[in-house]
Amino acid sequence: MATGQDASSAENMPHSEVHYFNSYNHHGIHEEMLKDEVRTKSYRDAIYNNPHIFKDKVVLDVGCGTSILSMFAVKAGAKHVIGVDMSTIILKAREIVEANGMSDKITLLQGKMEEVQLPFPEVDIIISEWMGYFLLYESMLDTVLWARDRYLRKDGKGLIFPDKATIFMAGIEDGEYKDEKIGFWDNVYGFDYTPLKMTALTEPLVDSVELKAVVSDPCAVMTIDLYTVKPEDLAFNLPFNLSIRRTDYIHAMIAWFDIEFSACHKPVRFSTGPHTKYTHWKQTVFYLADVLTVEAGETVKGRLSCKPNQNNRRDLDIEIDYKMDTQDPGRIAEGHCEYKMC
Ligand code: SAH
Repeated sequence: MATGQDASSAENMPHSEVHYFNSYNHHGIHEEMLKDEVRTKSYRDAIYNNPHIFKDKVVLDVGCGTSILSMFAVKAGAKHVIGVDMSTIILKAREIVEANGMSDKITLLQGKMEEVQLPFPEVDIIISEWMGYFLLYESMLDTVLWARDRYLRKDGKGLIFPDKATIFMAGIEDGEYKDEKIGFWDNVYGFDYTPLKMTALTEPLVDSVELKAVVSDPCAVMTIDLYTVKPEDLAFNLPFNLSIRRTDYIHAMIAWFDIEFSACHKPVRFSTGPHTKYTHWKQTVFYLADVLTVEAGETVKGRLSCKPNQNNRRDLDIEIDYKMDTQDPGRIAEGHCEYKMC
């Protein structure tokens, strides 16, 4: 039945949490996600093409939203699906499930994943679309890991869809736009607005980057294995090496992520990088305080660090350090930039 007692209330939640869940109440955000075909079709392929995995299984859909993934799982033969979502969109999901004749196969629970009582002690498969901008913004992965540790069957045969995520970085030439976004504050109607320039610089920009702007090879900085990763691993400080493809300037670093469903018979993957089809995640642009001059064949070495913000764990504190292998005293050789994603 598509019912189930409604657990947790919003009363005890910090304002930032209420704001987060409210942002998923409206159908508009779900429309954007459903219309992202790279995203939704990848989940659909991963589930539909593997009925041998889903047949007769109990599936948990963490953050089910409009219940699209739950319905995919039923179509692939799942015995029962439990969908959990804190947002009021789940009330519409109940109507959608009913309209599609799946109420006896899908149980929808409104509440926080961490607080609801599931009607099954454990589940065979967890499906979830938890990825935020820069992969980790909004920190919903914590919730998936919580569900994994609490509910995924303990005999090692439980599956997670998807189960792998990799963060990539590259350097880009973006003088014109950087001027427009950052340089703008140098002179606003004749006034010095540079205090706002600093603020603008510390805010990563979610935007579509043209492939031709990319000056370096992509570098995989971090791969997350959802079976083994621990919540504390999501605060990290890792090295990167950007191999420069052409002589140019670097105005910004960009980051994106790839996702993999490796349990599939034929693994399903998708990328949110600048080299492939648009997704609503676009790419994340980190403008550098300096402009780097780079030559083909050089390497920019650095470190990317990221941790949840102390005051609001859904925000991210990100730092980028870089160092060039140049001897040329006329060129900027190293730097350190701090960003807040909120
Ligand atoms: N699975 C849907 C929606 C993905 S968006 C789809 O693929 O279209 C993520 C959803 O997770 C949002 O609706 C949000 O409200 C929900 N969510 C995030 N954290 C949650 C938590 N801790 N408990 C319950 N729901 C959560």
